[in-house]
Amino acid sequence: CGVFAIYTNDEQVASRAYYGLFALQHRGQEACGIATSNQGRIEFYKSQGLVTEVFNEDNLSNLHGRCGIGHVRYSNSDGNANINIQPIVAHYLQGDVALAMNGALTNTEKLRQWLAQSGSVFQTTTDAELVCNLLARYGHGSLDVSISQAMADLQGSYALVAMNHDTIYAARDPYGNRPLCIGKLPNGYCIASESCSLDTIGATFVRDVRPGETITLDADGIHSRDLAHPPQPAHCAFEYVYFARPDSTIDGINVNLSRRRMGAILAREIADELDVDVVIPVPDSGTSAAIGFAEASGIEFTPGILKNRYTGRTFIAPTQEMREQLVKLKLNPIREELEGRRIAVVDDSIVRGTTSKRLVALLKERGAKEVHFLVTCPPVVNPCYYGIDTAERDRLIATKMDIEGIRTYIGADSLHFLSSEGLLEALGGEPRFCDACVGGAYHLGVPEEGEKR
Ligand code: 5GP
Ligand code: SF4
Ligand code: MG
Repeated sequence: CGVFAIYTNDEQVASRAYYGLFALQHRGQEACGIATSNQGRIEFYKSQGLVTEVFNEDNLSNLHGRCGIGHVRYSNSDGNANINIQPIVAHYLQGDVALAMNGALTNTEKLRQWLAQSGSVFQTTTDAELVCNLLARYGHGSLDVSISQAMADLQGSYALVAMNHDTIYAARDPYGNRPLCIGKLPNGYCIASESCSLDTIGATFVRDVRPGETITLDADGIHSRDLAHPPQPAHCAFEYVYFARPDSTIDGINVNLSRRRMGAILAREIADELDVDVVIPVPDSGTSAAIGFAEASGIEFTPGILKNRYTGRTFIAPTQEMREQLVKLKLNPIREELEGRRIAVVDDSIVRGTTSKRLVALLKERGAKEVHFLVTCPPVVNPCYYGIDTAERDRLIATKMDIEGIRTYIGADSLHFLSSEGLLEALGGEPRFCDACVGGAYHLGVPEEGEKR
């Protein structure tokens, strides 16, 4: 998911939120919403669909006020019911509150039980509503104090934005797992999951929200409260590998450049073993890495696969059957680039193996003489409990087969993965990342038995 928040002194809040969310569309295509605060009352509009489908001049013009928050959502364990669309808007002791979050808690069920036993009711299955209930429970003081109190109860990963009648709040989990950054506008400030969102609305990047930090935006500007003893950060490595937009810079690392390095390091690791005519990316997520690979290896690069830009990310499709269809709708290899050639095709990851199997078959159908499959991250061997929907453990192909088995399954002539060390090197070499899904440690904990996965 993606979150956005804005505080300004002009009346452009709803339209800025619209463009800010539009730039975060890649983080979730299932539903979206915007809430603004108008003289103590929160107005909102949310629905299923893309940002451009949900919003129009009409419904945007009904959203008034000097502050606003927004959300784009992709379906995860929360389920895809309409009621789960964010921002969640509620009324508590101190008035209206709206909240939106990205991430996933690992102690959802425990908190839900605890709240339910003392009388809380729930309309949704979202973590966001759970956090709202905690805010209400700690709601005797100002909202930033309630948020800090609630954060002490939360385990897992989150980047959240919240709003009451005249103030914006934002917080990032103590490990900084999900991205969140601050931008400056001529008349105020904004907060977004990724810096590409700030660029889009003409805001200047100020800095990333620090792990465990809570931010307040109001008429006096920006205030911040740091966590006293934050643990070693565990930023999601997959934001760089796959999820984030290449033009974003997250926690000091530009996503495009990190992907170029992943490609270049993979070239250093395996190019000697490879005898191919041309390097072709699987667009879009493999493009930067393929360029890095081609540069470092000296092998010719060509964009030999056309991606239809209007299909959405294939993992949005809920069923395996749909997923297979969508791969075909999405990618079209160009025969004239492939015929008779030995190609190295570069993709960011193999999760279920469906995409790559389908793609290798298509590439051969279109005349490729050999297809060598290069992946710019290590095999995905563990599920993500922190908000990236990489599938359950038993759907991950690398939990069922070794590399040779996967190679045979996808029908490639050879198959190569970036090493874990190579991935870390591409991210600057410091141990401040989560790489649990590719075999590293679950620094933010794992859900207990009975928790949703
Ligand atoms: P699969 O192996 O699951 O068939 O597909 C992997 C491809 O799908 C990669 O190209 C990647 O860009 C994309 N993809 C779809 N969903 C996800 C996801 O949740 N996580 C990751 N890492 N990649 C995904
Ligand atoms: Fe990111 Fe993987 Fe960690 Fe999940 S497990 S937060 S996808 S690095
Ligand atoms: Mg891809």
